[in-house]
Amino acid sequence: MTNATGTALTHSEAASGSADVIDSIVSTSGNMSKLDVETGTGIGTKIEALSSPATIKEQLFASPNLLLQVQQHQQMINRIVKGEDSRLMVIMGPCSIHDVASAIDYGRRLKRLSESVSDRLCLVMRCYFEKPRTTVGWKGMLHDPSLDGSDDMEKGVRLSRTLLLELAGMGLPLATEALNPLAVSYFDDLISWVAIGARTTESQPHREMASGLSAAVGFKNATDGSFNTATHSIKSAAHPHAFMGMSEQGNIGVVRTKGNSGGHLVLRGGNGQPNYDTLNIARCQHALRDAGLNERIMIDCSHENSGKDHLKQASVLADIAEQIRSGNSSIIGVMLESHINEHRQNISSDMEYGVSITDACMSWEQTERSIKEIYKALK
Ligand code: PEP
Ligand code: MN
Repeated sequence: MTNATGTALTHSEAASGSADVIDSIVSTSGNMSKLDVETGTGIGTKIEALSSPATIKEQLFASPNLLLQVQQHQQMINRIVKGEDSRLMVIMGPCSIHDVASAIDYGRRLKRLSESVSDRLCLVMRCYFEKPRTTVGWKGMLHDPSLDGSDDMEKGVRLSRTLLLELAGMGLPLATEALNPLAVSYFDDLISWVAIGARTTESQPHREMASGLSAAVGFKNATDGSFNTATHSIKSAAHPHAFMGMSEQGNIGVVRTKGNSGGHLVLRGGNGQPNYDTLNIARCQHALRDAGLNERIMIDCSHENSGKDHLKQASVLADIAEQIRSGNSSIIGVMLESHINEHRQNISSDMEYGVSITDACMSWEQTERSIKEIYKALK
């Protein structure tokens, strides 16, 4: 496996002055309890110790067999993205995971369903631990696992990786959104498909990070609905890059990547309008062709494609099934926001089991019905 954010650090990690600062923070933190370090200069007023990806991966260890399984899932998804496997990829699961028990419950259901449709559909579980916010709000389990604003990221990283190990252990391929460019190094060995969200698709650091991943990366169209930001991203991520980043040991360095040829566009609607209709998909195919890229498109049935009404996702999916039946071969995948129970809820002291605390989701029953319908339609 390549490192999540690249293949090599060019400088000796010890040779970097900045690395020394980070090392002293890490080494004085002992058991990674909250030992605050006043920074004096730079961004932030203090830095709390956080275990490095290497430490976390050592303590929350993935067996060689599990690592091999993830590599095989990454290759399987890359084959779908490149048109070498004609099955439709379905990225499905909660908008965000906030509760381990309901995520495991969802994973078990998904695994069972997956076995009955695997000749036509490749089901991949959404495991989203980082949430981009339009303004402010809960930023995900990685960030604030206790849901109380305490932002205990050491706990968040450990809880998220523990859950990924459990879900991957069921044999599931897993998907996540990579938001903080440093965070993906904690999980890259367990993730088989990565999203770059609508708010970050134009960001150079995200394109650079994507260029170092071995998993295929879906770039969302921008929130204004334009395709160009995503086509530029796909091109940029396919190239090798050099950028400032972090080693597995948590030291700053120059990361050099090989480029990722598994970039593709994800239509999610924009500017208050859906963009999954035949006209927009034809426009998108045109934009990809004009950019010299393969016409490989995933459609997110949620977000602005459903007007954030979770019940509309089923009709978006049915429309896409019809487009595929009518001969559209550029559609390689779909995305559903789905949980155990439908709707959404705010964070409170008496939350309902299996209900999203970010975007509204379809229930498991609604999801299963939709998956069976598209399975039948793709005969
Ligand atoms: C999401 O998938 O939950 C999400 C935030 O998507 P987007 O970037 O399209 O808004
Ligand atoms: Mn969402």
